[in-house]
Amino acid sequence: MRFKFILPIAFALVPAISSANTCEIDIGSSDSMAYDTKQVSVPASCEEFTVNFHHNGALPVGGMGHNWVLSKTADVNDIARKGADVGLKNDYLPDDDRIITATPLIGGGESATVKIKTSELSSDGKYTYFCTFPGHSYAMRGELKFGS
Ligand code: ZN
Repeated sequence: MRFKFILPIAFALVPAISSANTCEIDIGSSDSMAYDTKQVSVPASCEEFTVNFHHNGALPVGGMGHNWVLSKTADVNDIARKGADVGLKNDYLPDDDRIITATPLIGGGESATVKIKTSELSSDGKYTYFCTFPGHSYAMRGELKFGS
């Protein structure tokens, strides 16, 4: 009855991960075009918010690379288009002031961490995180809220 053993442990971890006032989150991805987290809430009490981004797949960065890029929602499509133009050698990340923060592009088995200075966020702002690998941003995006 291996199951009976595993389930209580999994449930026990949930409160620690989703604790209301934590200033840190783990976000995973895989060999498909998706984040495992579609929405992130950054508490107003955090001066800095840390995102630990993981690629839990196996494909290399050039085939199924992912990054975690944060901007205002209105700027997402333009940044993603410019990202495709600058190419893999630049992690598909354009030099653009509208990017609030971004991880490098990572491949399967890799992780990257970024910190967000919450002084750069406003509570009535609309923010989206997305992947700038060409073709990914339409499916691979989530909503970030600050101060709620
Ligand atoms: Zn991606």
